[in-house]
Amino acid sequence: MTSSLTLAPAPSSEAAENVRAEVREFLAAERDAGTFTTHVDTWLSGVDPAFSRRLGERGWLGMTWPEEYGGHERTAMERYAVTEELLAAGAPVAAHWIADRQSGPNLLRYGTEEQRRAILPRIAAGECFFVIGMSEPDSGSDLASIRTKATRTDGGDWVVNGAKVWTSNAHHSHYAIVLVRTGPPGEGPRGRHQGLSQLLVDLSSPGIAINPIRILDGGHHFNEVVFDDVLVPGDMLLGEEGAGWHQVTAELAFERSGPERFLSTYPLLAEFARRVADAGDAAALACLGRLSARLLALRQLSLRIAAALDRGELPDVPAALVKDVGTTFEADVVAEIRGVVDVPASLDSPDPLGRALAEAQLHAPGYTLRGGTNEILKGIVARGLGLR
Ligand SMILES: Cc1cc2nc3c(=O)[nH]c(=O)nc-3n(C[C@H](O)[C@H](O)[C@H](O)COP(=O)(O)OP(=O)(O)OC[C@H]3O[C@@H](n4cnc5c(N)ncnc54)[C@H](O)[C@@H]3O)c2cc1C
Repeated sequence: MTSSLTLAPAPSSEAAENVRAEVREFLAAERDAGTFTTHVDTWLSGVDPAFSRRLGERGWLGMTWPEEYGGHERTAMERYAVTEELLAAGAPVAAHWIADRQSGPNLLRYGTEEQRRAILPRIAAGECFFVIGMSEPDSGSDLASIRTKATRTDGGDWVVNGAKVWTSNAHHSHYAIVLVRTGPPGEGPRGRHQGLSQLLVDLSSPGIAINPIRILDGGHHFNEVVFDDVLVPGDMLLGEEGAGWHQVTAELAFERSGPERFLSTYPLLAEFARRVADAGDAAALACLGRLSARLLALRQLSLRIAAALDRGELPDVPAALVKDVGTTFEADVVAEIRGVVDVPASLDSPDPLGRALAEAQLHAPGYTLRGGTNEILKGIVARGLGLR
């Protein structure tokens, strides 16, 4: 037994392993300089724009994008190695996470040349942050029922009215990609998917109010975002008018498949592994064995999806599967470790295991909800397998 749990090298290229080593060296230097300490679930709650900028300077944002848009033309496996190391270290990556993971790829796929040139290089530099404007107070799982509306002005601009909710980090971000109704729904069971569009909305626009919603530990990570006659220039339509449902589906494949869907609680697991190595307790060792085996299987699945995305495929069904089993695993890490250690969970604990347990427990209700609930994901998988 080693003194810490480390992820085995990915079955990938030498280039990926080289960049993995560089990231580990960078993270060790950052830790030594005191710029961050490890926390659980930092891809949601660890906002540090200066840290994001330093990643941008290293070329670790927009890694797979074309150079003409500020990207670095690296492989998906190299990007995977970077994101995995940042998550495993519990580094403060939340500021740029959504822009790098899904908004940038969405812009690359559907954006106009002007939109790409104006925004992508800033995302890759770690200077421009995005939020997801999908959920509404009465529309979460049933996303097609959204009521936020955009109407065209005579001059071809849009006026947006409505409200989005659970909008992670809107108070730190520059743009939202907002799903809006721009036309009436069509006929039939899938008719509701018609008439939806995506708009790129500058969050500093007049008429936008960003109201905090606090989570169990008191932290402010997500918000309600209210749009009151917000004017959005006509050239900020993303993709095609009326094709919003198809575009959102493509975006969700990026949102659901990454290693953050099973590594949010990895810092807790790593701390537990260190403790188990010292104590040699049989029940704890068995628990570590069970959790590690599940982690390694999940990682193989997630790596294969990363490779499919790299090939330009749209692996929405496997992405739903990895998110379902991955987030169940994240919650199980907390419950199983609590079952075998006698350490009080407290945010103020002097013991790093007690602190990590408290952070993981207080964030746990969100793991299986964010990005689509596990019940909804099971439905997607069942339909994808032709089961209903
Ligand atoms: C930490 C966190 C961050 C988030 N960040 C964002 C963000 O940045 N942007 C954003 O747009 N959204 C965000 N969300 C919102 C998230 O996507 C929604 O919470 C999620 O889609 C569920 O919607 P809801 O909360 O309205 O629940 P509901 O849709 O009301 O569901 C309630 C319960 O009913 C179940 N249910 C609903 N329909 C069905 C069905 N057809 N079959 C079986 N069961 C069903 C659900 O599984 C769930 O258990 C975030 C959520 C969390 C927790």
